Amino acid sequence: MTTRFDTRPEKATPLRAWNGPLTQELVQRPSEFGLGNLPSKVQPDATTNSVCGFCATGCSLKVHLRDKQAVNLSAQMGYPVNLGMACPKGWESLEPLKARDRATSPLVRDRSGRLVQTSWDNALKQFVSGFKQIAEASGAQALAWLGTGQIPSEELAFLGALGKFGMGMIHGDGNTRQCMATAVAAYKESFGFDAPPYTYADFEESDVLVFVGSNLCITHPIMWQRVMRNRRKPEILVVDPRRTETAMMATKHLALRPKSDLVLFYGLARLLIESGWLDTDFIEQHVCGFEELKHFLLDGPYDAYRVSQETGIDEHVLLEMAALIGSGKRVSLWWTMGVNQSYEGTRVAQSLINLALLTGNIGKPGTGANSITGQCNAMGSRLFSNTTNLLGGHAFENPVHREKVARILEIPLERIPDQSSYAYDQIMEAIERGEIKGLWVVATNTAHSWINQRRFRKLRDKLELLVVQDMYHSTETAQMADIVLPAAGWGEKDGTFINSERRIGCIRKVSRAPGQALADFHIFQLVSHYWGCGEMFEKWSSPEAVFKLLKQLTAGQPCDITAIENYNMIEAHGGIQWPLRQSSGFAAERRLFEDGRFYHANGKARFIFEAPRELPEPTDPAYPLTLLTGRGTSSQWHTQTRTSKSAVLRKLSPQNLYVEINPADAEVYGIAAGSQVEVRSRRGKLVAKAYLSGTVSRGQVFMPMHYAEVNELTLDTVDPYSRQPSYKACAVAITST
Ligand code: SF4
Repeated sequence: MTTRFDTRPEKATPLRAWNGPLTQELVQRPSEFGLGNLPSKVQPDATTNSVCGFCATGCSLKVHLRDKQAVNLSAQMGYPVNLGMACPKGWESLEPLKARDRATSPLVRDRSGRLVQTSWDNALKQFVSGFKQIAEASGAQALAWLGTGQIPSEELAFLGALGKFGMGMIHGDGNTRQCMATAVAAYKESFGFDAPPYTYADFEESDVLVFVGSNLCITHPIMWQRVMRNRRKPEILVVDPRRTETAMMATKHLALRPKSDLVLFYGLARLLIESGWLDTDFIEQHVCGFEELKHFLLDGPYDAYRVSQETGIDEHVLLEMAALIGSGKRVSLWWTMGVNQSYEGTRVAQSLINLALLTGNIGKPGTGANSITGQCNAMGSRLFSNTTNLLGGHAFENPVHREKVARILEIPLERIPDQSSYAYDQIMEAIERGEIKGLWVVATNTAHSWINQRRFRKLRDKLELLVVQDMYHSTETAQMADIVLPAAGWGEKDGTFINSERRIGCIRKVSRAPGQALADFHIFQLVSHYWGCGEMFEKWSSPEAVFKLLKQLTAGQPCDITAIENYNMIEAHGGIQWPLRQSSGFAAERRLFEDGRFYHANGKARFIFEAPRELPEPTDPAYPLTLLTGRGTSSQWHTQTRTSKSAVLRKLSPQNLYVEINPADAEVYGIAAGSQVEVRSRRGKLVAKAYLSGTVSRGQVFMPMHYAEVNELTLDTVDPYSRQPSYKACAVAITST
């Protein structure tokens, strides 16, 4: 294939100074930005390595210690993930630990409504007696927890096992529902198991990289550096309604209409079939459902003309893209929240998987249908949180799986529920119905991050007891709590994370938690004793002891890690990707499906497809603009609970809420650059600073998710298969204030 798109950067639009290009400079020359400079008077006397606690890239950081306390850090050279690089968040990882608003003692709400300090004994007694009273009055189904992808697998497993097997809860979910549930649902149905197939080497070994709904430059800057190391002169196609920093760096940007992605990928699949750009041997041997897919595409409205009309992408561009995917030797397809956070995200993800399967682009270097994970341990949560999956990627509904888990954990079989949990949105609805009355929120900030905040905030009054366990007493959710349990953060405890490419890495305690704050692991131990189920967790004596239980639970599963001996082995190998079975050979970079065998019983993958659905809230004359949300800068992380604590990171990101508006739309609405504007949806309104930029198309506006007000606007609709919220497209209106 010789076609190349125009790679010259277009004339720069007025970008925010802190965005893309600056991120690249920060990654390449961090010391010039005040990152990673050792304090001159404090010389370290030792170092230890620890995987970063922000995103799922899983960079390893070398933490410099003095008297066993961290004094600074640098990026670890030679680690197969980051190769000596780190982004601003990684460099500033130690700063959030020093914040003044750390929760340093347990808090309970007194009769006057104030949160006041109390002892661990009193806080835990109130927590346990409150939850037990609710359970006695309304049953254990009236209790639930919300966890996170931000704590180690050992703690996630402890929370899940304690919640379900110890305390008898049925319902628990985590904030990974907000980021990765769609990829999980898509992989399970298509491959037979939740299995991202790639290794980061694939960024460097592709001839064609397709990024869908992913602003990798900003969201995963170190992964983007891996793309930049690609020596094959790859075509880089970015499919995104916005002209993001990644789109600017691409060889081609396809600025499709918001949420027309499923139609686009069905159109491309049809072009592949019509043009014969298929790997027929691969399809015959390794995939089910080709004839059904073919009829669906050829009989449906997916011809180039209609796809062009619907997506806004020119027909000749569709043909060029199909040609690149169809004839490229090593094609990789990558997606993140632009796909996952959609009302039909599961089918969109599967339409990308279909493209990889049609062309045999899987199981080989530089290929794959690859979901890029968000949080540092979202993958650990997927396998070990014991929420909608039974521990180790098992199913609550499967009696053989329940028996296996009971045997390994030495717990009574009847303690394992035979039904799965409500998903996050269903927990919210159950609170609204008055069915769930006690909620335990661990290391997540629901009162900022959950969709349609006004509805969520009303739910607080429906709860009889809200317990929040967090590093900070100041989060929006902690401020609503009846009880706050102070938790240690990353850097103050041990455990393992699993990154986006399935690599297990260790985190290490390099700092003492302040005041009476405890590692979540120790809080779970205490809760188990106060609840009266401590005996069940006698073997759960340390994170590494739990890791040994977890690896036994994976035996025979696609994620089998029984050949990993201990934490030392993980560290000695620079992290270890799952699986690592007793029989498997070891290599630092491994991808799945090299033998063409998938995880369904017949060993084959499946083509999954379904007609696109209507946008839940299209624009209309009253709300004429589509609101897109996403990451603002590489210096901000989600609800900014931690990144706002670093003076350096604060300097690298805008402090006040802003909205990006196309200049032509601004003219229509009489909005001047830098002025204050009101943005409103059917659910709420806010005031933000207008930032005029050609990076958003006409008819669209963009707001970063890091500001609490943004979710006052978003629409609470979810994908029916993954139950992941659709943050990306709702209708808004905008006026000058
Ligand atoms: Fe940490 Fe992610 Fe930045 Fe790496 S890219 S340093 S894992 S936040």
